[in-house]
Amino acid sequence: MPSNLRIDPERLWATLLETGAIGGTAKGGINRQTLTAEDAAVRAWFKGAAEALGCTVTVDEVGNIFALRAGRQPGLAPIALGSHLDTQPTGGKFDGNLGVLGALEALRTLVTAGYETNAPIVVVNWTNEEGARFAPAMLGSGVFAGVYTRAAADAVADLEGVRFGAALDAIGWRGEAKAGAMRLSAYLELHIEQGPILEAEQKTIGIVTGVQGVRWYELNLSGRESHAGTTPMPRRADALFACARLVGDVRALALARAPTAVGTVGQVEVKPNSPNVVPGQVRMTVDLRHHEDAVLEAMEADLKAAVERAASEEKVTISLSNLHDLPAIKFHPECIAAVRGAARALGYAERDIISGAGHDAVHLSRITPSAMIFVPCKDGLSHNEAESATREDCAAGAQVLLEAALTIDAKLATGPL
Ligand SMILES: [Zn+2]
Repeated sequence: MPSNLRIDPERLWATLLETGAIGGTAKGGINRQTLTAEDAAVRAWFKGAAEALGCTVTVDEVGNIFALRAGRQPGLAPIALGSHLDTQPTGGKFDGNLGVLGALEALRTLVTAGYETNAPIVVVNWTNEEGARFAPAMLGSGVFAGVYTRAAADAVADLEGVRFGAALDAIGWRGEAKAGAMRLSAYLELHIEQGPILEAEQKTIGIVTGVQGVRWYELNLSGRESHAGTTPMPRRADALFACARLVGDVRALALARAPTAVGTVGQVEVKPNSPNVVPGQVRMTVDLRHHEDAVLEAMEADLKAAVERAASEEKVTISLSNLHDLPAIKFHPECIAAVRGAARALGYAERDIISGAGHDAVHLSRITPSAMIFVPCKDGLSHNEAESATREDCAAGAQVLLEAALTIDAKLATGPL
């Protein structure tokens, strides 16, 4: 049986629109990159809204904001609900915002009903999830989870050379609290799917069981520049043709493991890039993703075999280096069960789903039991000003978030998850 608490869909929608105006673009999206004046404005809005609910708002040393409502059972660590309020330069109104504002709506529902939880509930806005201005993405949650140090975060520079630490100080949102000092009992994150599966299958709720692992590679191919008119085909060492073969090989190794594997060559630089020179040098990237590390391992082995084949048959040398390796994440069984139970009890059409994108929950899952809830977005489109989700689906997501948090809260009264 679900609780009799019901979130207010209109109030949630109104906050999405109200905050969407902060950094709002002409095309209906948001440009609210991290640690800008717009980010500062939405942070102030969030703090004000949380304080109006009677929450205690604290900020940690990398600008993560925590709005805490006390629980009735002393000694229990808070249940955290959150996401991020920063956006891509041409971001939408829902990516991240739904997770923070949906959590705020859940909190408003508890306060309005006078419902006391056992554990404190803390709504979190993580700093710099997007990584659009300061790479890497998910930086604030990464420092909180101990993946990066504060010093490393402070030193990251944007394209203008402004450092993260300086930008955080400049907008006045560096807090006193040490990142990660707040112990948590669990973490739940509501998010739009950013993919097409839920919409295509007419499901309202995605029960996110894990996040794909990601491996990035850089390949440097060296052949021999030569005259396009005078070099016979058998005498060529064409780095671009070797690259083209590898583009096909990457596609094939992902298709061989369809539909769960994906492989992408997203960047190619050709030198000398002249119409009448056989290309001598190519730099290319490969992005491989799957939700099982063992499958990723096999995909990598296929890639290396393809590289050796292309090198010997095309007479080029190819070096391959690993740029980035994020292992696959499996969320906590009890948190997943709480989300699934909530979705079913509330009667929403649901399915299990793997996240194709990274989220703050990836880092949080290292330090506390975590899970995510997805709702559909139109045409699977995200990181785009046209990003769109319905009022009903946003409300369903926030309702499942509240209900799952209450399930976890009931469990915590008897012991940790
Ligand atoms: Zn996001």
